[in-house]
Amino acid sequence: MNRRRRIYEGKAKVLYEGPEPGTLIQHFKDDATAFNAKKHELIDGKGVLNNRICEFVYQNLNQIGVPTHFIRRLNMREQLIREVEIIPLEVVVRNVAAGSLAKRIGVEEGTALPRSIIEFYYKSDALEDPMVSEEHITCFGWASPQEIDDIMALALRINDFLTGLFLGVGIRLVDFKIEFGRLYENDLVRVVLADEISPDSCRLWDIQSNDKLDKDRFRRDMGGLVEAYTEVARRLGIMNELEPPPGRGPVLVK
Ligand code: UDP
Repeated sequence: MNRRRRIYEGKAKVLYEGPEPGTLIQHFKDDATAFNAKKHELIDGKGVLNNRICEFVYQNLNQIGVPTHFIRRLNMREQLIREVEIIPLEVVVRNVAAGSLAKRIGVEEGTALPRSIIEFYYKSDALEDPMVSEEHITCFGWASPQEIDDIMALALRINDFLTGLFLGVGIRLVDFKIEFGRLYENDLVRVVLADEISPDSCRLWDIQSNDKLDKDRFRRDMGGLVEAYTEVARRLGIMNELEPPPGRGPVLVK
């Protein structure tokens, strides 16, 4: 059915060869995984929602001058992106203690942090993504000191933008994970935001109720994941075209 060349298949996405050199197609699957893929389920509609939410966020980031790999959305599940060399780091930005930080430090989940924290994890399924420091990153050559500076500056700009974006629609951005890549253009190389930003990679809590609107619903067996992601999309003003048109009621035919 699909004759495009598959470049890479991850847990929630597939990358295909793009229509022109230097481009790829990023396809969002319905697969949900957690705990290094020990927990796995298909959640009907998740890929479509993540594609749309990710498009919205990356388009806005491009517009405010944060370079990303995103070019344009192609269809319900796919987007055209620039091919980059992925830097093997998961960069986590935190505003509120939750998840592994709450556990490791023994802080109560939901405690606001006095300032945002950036953490680095080495991308390795075999090693279960160990946390690493800048010393490890430069020592093992995963990124240069200049690239780490660029990554940290971009991560903080992305955090400020996303915090405001979500606050405006009544959502608290607790933390999120991003990945960066090297974009080669002629003789230049620059660091750009790659991968995805979606409720799969963020913790999003309703400001009023603290309800979770993110993948923790799956990790913690809470159910209602598609409903939560749909709510995020609805609040951001996307996907409204998918809602059924308001009924006009019966019309009297004379
Ligand atoms: N995260 C992610 N992929 C990972 C690990 C973490 O997208 O492989 C995101 C996660 O959704 C959360 C943030 O990064 O928004 C921080 O996650 P944490 O370190 O607390 O790990 P977790 O508790 O999710 O294992």
